[in-house]
Amino acid sequence: MLALKKKLLKCSFCGKTEKDVARLIGGPGVHICDGCIGTCNRILEATPSSFAGWDKMTNEQLLDGLKTAEATVEATRGVLQAQIEELRQRNVSWEAIGKALGISRQAAWERFS
Ligand SMILES: [Zn+2]
Repeated sequence: MLALKKKLLKCSFCGKTEKDVARLIGGPGVHICDGCIGTCNRILEATPSSFAGWDKMTNEQLLDGLKTAEATVEATRGVLQAQIEELRQRNVSWEAIGKALGISRQAAWERFS
């Protein structure tokens, strides 16, 4: 018997599929898993709500924050890449993507293809 294969949904941040995670929550064009939400919560908890400035932090505090900051950058980059891949699947031109980002067609292609 032929079964229709449903495309697995993936977390836009870590790439795990809905089968690999306990929960997957969807937003417009993106999904996030319970594990990544946990990471986000830890980032929020680690960030003082009244930020006094980088110069007020100790070396240890700054060093401790590096890995979290990098993970945040990587996660955000993943969302951007996923959005662009979706646009490319819809045959939206590199010209249009570049224009939306305020960069040239060539620069958009070099960065995201
Ligand atoms: Zn995830």
